[in-house]
Formats: sequence, C-alpha cells, structure tokens
Amino acid sequence: MTFHKKHYLMTPGPTPVPEKSLLAQARNMIHHRGPEYGEIISRVLEDLKYVFQTKNDVFILTSSGTGGMESAVANLFCRGDKVVVASTGNFGDRWANIANAFGLNVIKIDFDWGTKVNVEKVAETLENHPDAKGLFCTHSETSTGVVNDIKSLSSIVRERENTIIVVDAVSGLGACELRTDDWSLDVVVAGSQKALMAPPGLGFVCVSEKAWNFIERSDLPKFYWDYKKYKKSIQSIPPQSPFTPAISTIVALGESLKMIQEEGLENIWERHRILGKATREGIKAMGLTLFSPDDDTSCAVTAVYSPDGINSREIVRILREKHAVTIAGGQDKLKGLIFRIGHCGFFTHLDIIATLSALEHTLKELGVNVTSGSGVTAAQKVFEE
Ligand code: PMP
Repeated sequence: MTFHKKHYLMTPGPTPVPEKSLLAQARNMIHHRGPEYGEIISRVLEDLKYVFQTKNDVFILTSSGTGGMESAVANLFCRGDKVVVASTGNFGDRWANIANAFGLNVIKIDFDWGTKVNVEKVAETLENHPDAKGLFCTHSETSTGVVNDIKSLSSIVRERENTIIVVDAVSGLGACELRTDDWSLDVVVAGSQKALMAPPGLGFVCVSEKAWNFIERSDLPKFYWDYKKYKKSIQSIPPQSPFTPAISTIVALGESLKMIQEEGLENIWERHRILGKATREGIKAMGLTLFSPDDDTSCAVTAVYSPDGINSREIVRILREKHAVTIAGGQDKLKGLIFRIGHCGFFTHLDIIATLSALEHTLKELGVNVTSGSGVTAAQKVFEE
C-alpha cells in the first residue's frame, strides 16, 4: 500500500498558494493586449497599491525579488554615487552586493545577525556622509527573522532632499505593517511568492515622486528594467507592460489579491502577529532558543537555534522526509546553526500546530529531551487568547 503524505510548505518563500489562485493559473492563455487581460491587470495594479499602501505607481516585473532589487539600483543611481546600506543579514548584504556590482560607492553598516538595525547609528552615518544619495534597508530580514523599524529609518531620510530610502520588503509586504506613503518610503521592492500568496516569478516595485528625480539623473545601464518604459506603458488605458508579462502568474496573483482585499490588510498583519507569537511560544516551551527576536514585530519568519550538537540540516531533513513538513535551514554563516519556520502568507493556526508537533517528534528522534505536546500546548494557548 502506498501512503501519500500530506505536505506542509512552511518556508519563508515560496509559500502555499490558495487553490483558487492555482486554478486561475491553469486557465487558457489570453493575450496581454486584449480586453480580458486589461480588466485583470487594472484590478491587480489597484490591489497592489492597497497592499503597498500607496497612491504611487507599482510596476510588475517578470523576475523574482532580486530582479526588483537590481532594477532599483540600476534606475535610481549614477556610477560612483555614495549609498549607505544598513545590513542585518543575508538580504541586507545583497543590497551591498548589487550596489557594488553597479559601481556605487557603498558605505555598509553591519549589525549583528539576529538584531535590528540601530537607527541612531544609521542617522550618525548619514550625518557623516551628507553626500550619500541612498539608504538601502530590509524590512523583514528573512535570513534571521528580524523585522526592522522602517518608519524610523525613513524619518532620518525624509528631510534630506538629496537622499532616498530604498526598502526590500520581499518577505515583509503583506505580512508585517508597512505603509509606503505614510512612512514616506521612496522605493519599495517585493515579490509574488511570499505573503502575497502567489507563485514565484513576479517582482514588484513602488516608486515615489521624489525617487523620480533620481531616475531622471540616473546614468547606469538598463534596458529590460528601465522604469521609464514601465511608467509609459502603465499610463495607457488599460495599463500595459513594455514586454510580454507573466500572464498566468499575474492571473493567479489577481485571485490572491482578492483574498487579501477580503481579509483586510490590518487583519492580515494581526493574523501574522499571532502566528509569530504562537510559533515563538511553542519553540520556547520545547526548551529551544529563539534566534529571531522574541517580539511581536517578528511576524514573517521565526528563526531558532539548533540544539547543542545537532546540525540544523538534520532537523530540516527529518521534518521533510518523515513528516513531509518543509522548513528552511540557516543561510550563509548561519548554515547548520539555525532553522527557520516561515509563516508569511496563506497560513493558519493549524499549520503552526502541525509544524510544532512534527518538530517535537523530530527532536525526539534526534535524542533531544522534549515533552510531547509542550510546544503545541503553548502555541494553542496563544491562539485561544
Ligand atoms: N529579500 C528578501 C528579504 C527575501 O526574503 C528574498 C527571498 N528569500 C529576497 C530578497 C530575494 O528574492 P528572490 O529569491 O525572489 O530573488
């Protein structure tokens, strides 16, 4: 007899895609210059503005999140421009790597992985570099589970006419509070495969008025990513894209965005806060140590130290092979040391309970002293509250 396992995808991207969106993706191909697509894309762009909390244009790129990040660098700056990168992990480092690849003069501030950006330190750095044109930062740092205080970071850039803030919100948008316009964020980058509950393959970029002045002076090479092309296309009725878009993925995204509208962004932020809290309480009750901060901002990813003497890869492997639960290991210098449970997107309390239960079994199999039900009970308590 073959027993087909039920799979749980508990990584911080890609994340589970709702059935409606998957089915929408399987529909017959339509033409991207026709009226049917016109209706879909008009609504998708409006719904994206809602998710970004912006009145500015949002561009859809056929790329993963990193393509969106690269497009921001290529469109906003000039060769040799000085920029400050505030990094708290792997994805903060990515900003620095991309900026270096484009020949920018990068002032990188490194904060310990697992901690948040220290806003005063960034303010001081910007004061010491009045000619810095940009501040790059990460909203939800997926490699560590940290969510940075983007609102405060933006407040130190807002008054500077010649500096913009560029935010990677790839895993945070649609999970943790982010208000593009209220917080005066100049450029925000996101992707389809995390809290937006869509398949991978779309990058999103939202661009402020202030950022357009930077785009006008930018001299870095670009063609496919050229925001001027995207802006021109989006202004036609119905909105267009300069190149053939990833039609089926956009159709799927459209269904997921409808669900986001129906649930309401503030309710979604609150659901994620509770998912994060329940996960943390469960982890602590099992006797494990959190790597990500034990605070309510940490609502997209929970990072956990592997118990002494156990490589976190073993935990990830057993969870996947024996329990069909896929979580993520550590990245870069955290490889083998931590594991990460993703809960940004289409997740409910039962996903967390199932994952914690499978984790209890896995730890026992590895000889760790865990009381059965300890994590599950602690998480359950949070959901009951
Ligand atoms: N930034 C963050 C915060 C991310 O979580 C990711 C994806 N894990 C990326 C950037 C890169 O996105 P992608 O893999 O879609 O290129």
